Amino acid sequence: MADKRDYYEILGVNKDVKEDELKKAYRKLALKYHPDRNKEAGAEEKFKEISEAYAVLSDQEKRSKYDQFGHAGVDGRWSQEDIFRNVDFGDLFRGYGGGGGGGGFGDSIFDIVFGGRGRRRGGPQRGSDLRYSMTISFEDAYHGLEQEISIPRTENCTVCKGSGAKPGTEPKTCGTCRGSGQTTRAQNTPFGQFMTTSTCPTCRGRGKVVDVPCTECHGSGRVQKKRKIKIKVPAGIESNSRMRVGGEGEHGTAGGPPGDLFVDIYVKPHRTFKRVGNDILVENDISFTQAALGDEITVSTVDGKVKLKVPAGTQTGATFRVRNKGMPYIHGHGQGDLHVRMNVKVPKKLSQKQKGVLREFARLSGEKPAKEYEKGLFEKVVDGVKDKI
Ligand SMILES: [Zn+2]
Ligand SMILES: [Zn+2]
Repeated sequence: MADKRDYYEILGVNKDVKEDELKKAYRKLALKYHPDRNKEAGAEEKFKEISEAYAVLSDQEKRSKYDQFGHAGVDGRWSQEDIFRNVDFGDLFRGYGGGGGGGGFGDSIFDIVFGGRGRRRGGPQRGSDLRYSMTISFEDAYHGLEQEISIPRTENCTVCKGSGAKPGTEPKTCGTCRGSGQTTRAQNTPFGQFMTTSTCPTCRGRGKVVDVPCTECHGSGRVQKKRKIKIKVPAGIESNSRMRVGGEGEHGTAGGPPGDLFVDIYVKPHRTFKRVGNDILVENDISFTQAALGDEITVSTVDGKVKLKVPAGTQTGATFRVRNKGMPYIHGHGQGDLHVRMNVKVPKKLSQKQKGVLREFARLSGEKPAKEYEKGLFEKVVDGVKDKI
């Protein structure tokens, strides 16, 4: 990590660069070094370097961390499976599942680099990105988790190394299209001659034909595999986060790079804990005597129990903070806080003795003697309704 270059230097911009200028500089370099266009040695590494620099500098939060702490501030623990929330990948890569040219990418670099469907037949093509949805519990989001997932994906056939030809034989250049993967047909109409270009029917656009097909992949050079991939979900992850696992998408064709795997994480809501930013809210019942006299109570946190002092005279709704018992911060150290909201419970059943003490209490408080009023049928019904609301 020590010899990593400065991100601003990589993109050739100043430290105070504005968003649109940054984007412009990035596009220019990305177009120049994109592995689909630039076959020079080292172009792909350069392209990766540019993409990484842009991914960080185009994200407000990451950029400020980078400005403060350098590379250590942005790629500490999760450099491999970095969290790229809020980064618009449409701007960089083809759509999920290889549906290249799909809507929503507008004037993105995607259009410029990849063009429409059907271009560059036979040449190296990047593998499709894959998406995987994963639902985890609130506790797993708190502690982080490592899980193996099974991804069905297209890979290059290992027997023929993707050529489609039986080992020992070679694929031949297609005679129909002479290797271009496309055929052009002239059509005469009353309005003049039209040229129609279509995918070569003999080689289906690959530019090569196989005489003796590989028995493993039946000549396609590609096989369907279920691949087990270990996913590390960092502690503190928020619901609806997207993680990128670089290079674990489908294999590219004709030596093209693999796509990426995107894992969408959904965190199930918890019965008692509620997350707000990095803080956690929890409700806690106390008795009316505890509320009136004060007490030391035990409160549940996500990873155990803590003691909390409740002062005398605490009202329903009073909220106390327990520091560092909230969600861990995903980039960096420390945790949010736990906020405990008090709910003062009024006893529903009292013995004669308890009633007597309370009457005495009311007298000492200067209250008029309460009109004792036992629940009739009507109130029971109302109470029942209230419980349901
Ligand atoms: Zn094969
Ligand atoms: Zn052909």
